[in-house]
Amino acid sequence: MTNALTVLITGGADGIGRVTAQRFIDSGHRVHVCDVNQEAVAQLSNDGSGITGSVGDVSSVADVERVFAELEQTYGGLDVLVNNAGIAGPTAPAEAIGTEDWDRAISVSLSGQFYCLRRAIPMLRASEYGSIVNISSNAGLFGFPLRLPYAASKWALIGMTKTLAMELGPEGIRVNAICPGSVAGPRIDGVIERDAGARGVAPEAIRKAYERQSSLRCFVEAKDVAEMVYFLTSPLGAKISGQAIGVDGHTESLSNGLE
Ligand code: NAD
Repeated sequence: MTNALTVLITGGADGIGRVTAQRFIDSGHRVHVCDVNQEAVAQLSNDGSGITGSVGDVSSVADVERVFAELEQTYGGLDVLVNNAGIAGPTAPAEAIGTEDWDRAISVSLSGQFYCLRRAIPMLRASEYGSIVNISSNAGLFGFPLRLPYAASKWALIGMTKTLAMELGPEGIRVNAICPGSVAGPRIDGVIERDAGARGVAPEAIRKAYERQSSLRCFVEAKDVAEMVYFLTSPLGAKISGQAIGVDGHTESLSNGLE
């Protein structure tokens, strides 16, 4: 990488976002994260990594405005937005999903990404290397039983990605989506527990079924996703835009055969 980029990663204090932040830092870039977890942001800002952070909930327009004001004050610009913050949402049949759960899932995983990219676009226009990576999911490529709001938000992100790639491409700004498969870690452990609870089966049966969903029979690691983010935003990805790229061992289906 020749030029040091300024990168904003939402939901960057933990999980995929944190690993991605480190990937950019390790290659000499500047990273600011936004995260709703105050403690995790404080820890990150003091851990010697050089990553800076703002506490903010992406589903709040006021928070997003403050995060970008702090970013501008700290770095004066932005080259890369990694729209990563997203929540799992409820695990339940569609008719049992409450309005509040629906609204919360959509407001974090879809509206939050919109609020951030809307605010980022003018800053990316001023960059020679502007690009956006939206973190969707393999649930954005398949139907996903019992996870309606999650799947709906992740499909919507791909529509947003393709539309924005067309709007911004003539100005040299690239927009891509990454669709991770199940990432090993505490978040997927929670998803497995809830899925097992909703179906009345043992968590181990769900874990095995999730592994069987991919041709490579695997979970992915956060670093697999981080490397793809890095590639897409680097000169190696200079001609890639409007894509929804699976990092998932090739998902064959999200129907887990337990019905
Ligand atoms: P995670 O829960 O491990 O970490 C997400 C981070 O986002 C946390 O630090 C959390 O505090 C923060 N966050 C949550 N709500 C927020 C909000 N409203 N505003 C700002 N920050 C917020 O999640 P993860 O597994 O690293 O997932 C990151 C992204 O990858 C999400 O969009 C998720 O849907 C997607 N994804 C994850 C998996 C997986 O298996 N983990 C698979 C496919 C896609």
